[in-house]
Amino acid sequence: MMLNQTHDLTRRSWIESANVADSDFPLQNLPYGVFRTAADPSALIGAAIGDRILDLRAAARAGLLPDAVSPACGQPELNALMALGAPAWSALRARLSELLGSDTCPEGEQRARVSACLVPMRDAEMLLPARIGDYTDFYASIHHATNVGSMLRPENPLLPNYKWIPIGYHGRGSSIVVSGTAVRRPHGQLKPADAPAPVFAPCKNFDYELELGAFVGPGNRLGERIPLAQAANQLFGVVLLNDWSARDVQTWEYQPLGPFLAKNFATTISPWVVTMEALAPFHVPAFKRDGADPAPLPYLTDATDTARGGLNLTLEVYLLTAQMRLAGQAPHRISRGNFQHMYWTLAQLLAHHASNGCNLQPGDLLGSGTVSGPERDMRGCMLELTWRGTEPLKLPGGEERKFLADGDEIILRGYAERPGARRIGLGECRGTVLPAN
Ligand code: CA
Repeated sequence: MMLNQTHDLTRRSWIESANVADSDFPLQNLPYGVFRTAADPSALIGAAIGDRILDLRAAARAGLLPDAVSPACGQPELNALMALGAPAWSALRARLSELLGSDTCPEGEQRARVSACLVPMRDAEMLLPARIGDYTDFYASIHHATNVGSMLRPENPLLPNYKWIPIGYHGRGSSIVVSGTAVRRPHGQLKPADAPAPVFAPCKNFDYELELGAFVGPGNRLGERIPLAQAANQLFGVVLLNDWSARDVQTWEYQPLGPFLAKNFATTISPWVVTMEALAPFHVPAFKRDGADPAPLPYLTDATDTARGGLNLTLEVYLLTAQMRLAGQAPHRISRGNFQHMYWTLAQLLAHHASNGCNLQPGDLLGSGTVSGPERDMRGCMLELTWRGTEPLKLPGGEERKFLADGDEIILRGYAERPGARRIGLGECRGTVLPAN
């Protein structure tokens, strides 16, 4: 994707909070979300700018947006906008950048009209950004797959298909919740290795998984494929995703058909969808395969994807326990990884998903799989960080964790930065563990 004026490092917004160096939402980001306010209970599409939200329905009604996107911007979810495709997304982004830039929208009548469409973020309740039809979760980190594999099968950690085929499973759309929603510890069948039979009880080994979620754009008709060369244009944008996992349930149920009730009780996503166009300055080469790794099959090979399909995106996990919260302590960072360590690119995941003619639709969500990297502090879940509970995590207040306790809050954060580009952020994805009921 080409860089353009919307990425220009030197441009500033006339909304001063967007110009603060560590703001997740500067003029160069402009992510989309769905919100409502106490004053107006309707769900509205907005674009984040600093500590404000530009109400896109109001902006469309004021005649400020391109005609081609105005109807989609008045919807209560992003699906219609996702369906419009990359040229329309680009036109909307260019227009928003123009309306919110201090250079392109000087003080005057137009700035006043835009100003009238702004809502303070603190007055907004964020909702799920889209009606999520189908949700698929992949397993694209070779580091995660190798770590988990070595716990389950020390003699054979990485299964022979891993380097050939993006592994995934169909998840559950109905239990995807937005950041801030508390998540209840699930019940399930648990069977300790030395017990003769399972019991039905609250999960003991409750975990999170740090992932990136990618929203599908226009998609494909049933029976048609999406070539890898076109797959990047089919991706609308990304969110942070926490794939809550009941490890003890998973151990007992996962063979032979894969994850089921260990995963589908809740998945949390961040509310702001950062567009692929906003991320364009942060593309890097795809995972560098060494001589022992097979080249991907032709339908998973594309020169541009190899050269630019990776994403330099820092992803962090913070833990805030109930005790830390009471003591007024700040959340403690327990890992920091980067999306560039993923074995498969987002475009490869999408092209593979459609490679059998499976129809992807606007608003479908693709989870990347746990984002783990080569270093110890890059492990993206508790299972790996504590090596299945054998190396407990020590927290600053003296507490220890093998897995998550009731009252623990997991906070995912993500941002992209590099010299020559404005740092942009994904915001936060938060969830607190409620006791089993
Ligand atoms: Ca997962």
